[in-house]
Amino acid sequence: MCHRCDQINKAKENLIKSVRGEPDVTTSHSTGLSKNDSLVAGYVEPQVDLATYISTSYLEPFDKLRANGGFGQPLSKQNSRQDPSKRSFLKLTAASAIGLGFAGTGIATAQEKKAAKTYSKAPPKPENVLTPDQALERLMEGNERYVAGKSIPLDFHDVQNSLVKGQNPYATILGCSDSRVSPEHCFDEAQGDLFVARGAGNYLTNDNIATLEYSVAVLNTPLIMVLGHESCGAVKAAIDAVDHHKDFPGHIQLLASAIAPAVRAVSDTSSSRLLNVTKKNVIMTVERLRNKTPILDYYHDQKKIRVVGGLYHLDTGKVELIA
Ligand SMILES: [Zn+2]
Repeated sequence: MCHRCDQINKAKENLIKSVRGEPDVTTSHSTGLSKNDSLVAGYVEPQVDLATYISTSYLEPFDKLRANGGFGQPLSKQNSRQDPSKRSFLKLTAASAIGLGFAGTGIATAQEKKAAKTYSKAPPKPENVLTPDQALERLMEGNERYVAGKSIPLDFHDVQNSLVKGQNPYATILGCSDSRVSPEHCFDEAQGDLFVARGAGNYLTNDNIATLEYSVAVLNTPLIMVLGHESCGAVKAAIDAVDHHKDFPGHIQLLASAIAPAVRAVSDTSSSRLLNVTKKNVIMTVERLRNKTPILDYYHDQKKIRVVGGLYHLDTGKVELIA
C-alpha cells in the first residue's frame, strides 16, 4: 500500500474512532495526515469534534446507526403526526408513494416500531429520513413539479417551530451562485430540506468540501448533487482564461483557474463547447467527491450516500442527471 493510501485509510479509521469517542490511530495527529498530505488528498482536518456534535444532536450515534443498518429508517407514525402542516403532509404522501411504506393503515408495522425506537428524539422533519435512492427520487419529483408549474405553496409558519432546535435536510446541493438557479426553487423544497453550498461555477474548494463532509457526517444527509447550469458565466470566464490567457482582477481569477482543468479536458471547439465544459466540470467534481475526500469516500464506499451530478436547463427549469 502506498504512503498516501495508508494515510487516507488511517484518516478513515480515525473518523470512525472520533465519532465513537475512541482515541485516534495516531496520537500526535488526529487524522494521521501531515499538512501536505491533507492538501494532496483534498482533505482538511476537522476543527470540530464530530462525536460531540452527534451526541448532542437528535441523531443516532454513528455506531448505533451502523448497527441499525444506517440511513433510511422508515418514518414512525408517531413522528408523522407531530408535524401536521399541509406542506409536510403533501411531502409525507409523496414519500409514501416512493416506497417508505407508511401509507396510513393505522397500524404500525414492526419496522416502523423499530424506527420509532431508533430516535430518542424525533427528527424535525421525519419525512426527510430517506435512503440515498429515495432522496434522489424525491429531489427529481420536486423538479418535475417546478417544471410543470405545480410547486407546492410555501409557508414558513408550517415549519417554523419544528426547525428551531435542529435540522435534518435530506439532500446537499453544491450549486452555482447564479441567481437563476436557486436549489430550493428548482427542487420545490422548503426550509430544512436542502443543505446548500453555492459558489460561481460550482467547483470544489477545501471550504465547500468541509461543508459537504459536515452535511454527511453530522447531519446524515444521504445525497449530494453537484448542480451546474447552462450559460454559466464562471465557465465562460474559465474558457476565456484558457483560450486567451486572460487575467481577471482580484480573486476572480481563482474561479477561472479552478475550472480550467474541465476546459482542457474538453477538446470540442464547436458551438456546444460551453455546455460540454459545464458538464465536464460537474462530472469531474462528482468524481472527486466520490473518490478523493476521506469522509465522503468512506460513506460512498459503504453506500450510505450517493453523489450525483445535474445540469439545470434555463429555458425549461428541468434538471438533467448527467453523472
Ligand atoms: Zn453559473
